[in-house]
Amino acid sequence: MTDHVFYPWSAQAGLNAPTIVGASGSHFWDDKGNRYLDFSSQLVNVNIGHQHPDIVAAIIAQAQQLATISPTVGNEVRSELARLIVERAPGDLNRILFTTGGAEAVEHAVRLARSFTGRTKMLAAYRSYHGGTGVAIGLTGEPRRWGAEPTNVDVVRFFGPYPYRSPWETSTPEEETTAALRHLRQVIELEGPQNIAGLILETVVGTNGVLVPPPGYLAGVRALCDEFGIVYIADEVMVGFGRVGQWFAVQEFGVAPDLITFAKGVNSGYVPLGGVLIAERIAQRYDHTVYPGGLTYAGHPLACAAGVASIEVFERDGILDHVRSVGADVLGKGLRELAARHPSVGEVRGLGFFWALELVRDPETREPLVPFAAAGAAAEPMAKVTAAAKARGVWPFNVGNRFQIAPPLTTSADELRTGLEIVDEVLEVADEYV
Ligand code: PMP
Repeated sequence: MTDHVFYPWSAQAGLNAPTIVGASGSHFWDDKGNRYLDFSSQLVNVNIGHQHPDIVAAIIAQAQQLATISPTVGNEVRSELARLIVERAPGDLNRILFTTGGAEAVEHAVRLARSFTGRTKMLAAYRSYHGGTGVAIGLTGEPRRWGAEPTNVDVVRFFGPYPYRSPWETSTPEEETTAALRHLRQVIELEGPQNIAGLILETVVGTNGVLVPPPGYLAGVRALCDEFGIVYIADEVMVGFGRVGQWFAVQEFGVAPDLITFAKGVNSGYVPLGGVLIAERIAQRYDHTVYPGGLTYAGHPLACAAGVASIEVFERDGILDHVRSVGADVLGKGLRELAARHPSVGEVRGLGFFWALELVRDPETREPLVPFAAAGAAAEPMAKVTAAAKARGVWPFNVGNRFQIAPPLTTSADELRTGLEIVDEVLEVADEYV
């Protein structure tokens, strides 16, 4: 592809991506007539599916009524979306600071945590992604941060649970929870809790492997944050708004954080939108004190109209139920069957419409199919596996040594089964390296 666009996270010369000209529901297609089943929801954001007529209509209607307005004045559709989101949020997360995307939401969550506590240090996990801007990339605990260093963010890293590759070599999820919480307590104590403003954690770790927290882990994190006066930020940019079958993924684990960052699925990216849900006691700090921050396009009326329409479709079409039942019965079950047949699949994990197959060269030693690499470096043979899927018309969300699957939440059981048949064929490419 030769054009004047400078592509993010990409070596410009090596880019060999198709030119996409159209999309509908769970599919998109390119200028050469190739059609793809979207097993990525693009960047895990098109939760409602492509070109949903209700969302498109809502954007058009809003554009005709009021296409743009400052975020510092009142606006009906923005207030309506905030109400709809708060009604579905856990705990007393009663107010929303809107942004235009996920990284900005993270920037503001950190600013809120710091200004609320008067502390500066942030705790963030290894194997995390929190966004591509200043503070957000500094918090990120994986190779995409490397090229942006030094980041000058006062961050301390800890290991989150990862039973398949346990940092503590535990052998059960329960042991992993105990070890991870003991480790986190030590990090907090040695760093000085009086200096720690906030802890940021993806509720289900997304790009870094669809790591579902083991039982009790998030409740333990909540308890540690309470004990030490640390603001608990759940980063749900990727897993909020139905990805795991709940409005917010923390609801699956019965915890209420102090702040939730969201973006992507809130309106499926038809118009850029993100935000921070704020606990009442933190929001009240700014009732008579100016909040130091804001963005010209935050809470854009077109984006909010798309968000309102999206929540209405979720409710009307029972999307959360669909994600829970079909996610478990078709995706989860189907992927476990594939894992049993393919020696290259070391582990299957996931929830709802978010799954990963961790690919290995040796199921005994768990040697990964490819080693860690910096962003954009599609290492062989994983690049070959991904190319094989795309050549057969399935577009996965592969990262590192994981074959990751995150279809639009509106994808039917039959479409998922068709996709899984193709994944079955594609895994033979990986099996050759075992
Ligand atoms: N946090 C998480 C957990 C994410 O997955 C992402 C995006 N992949 C971000 C933050 C950043 O969001 P955005 O790209 O919209 O800035």
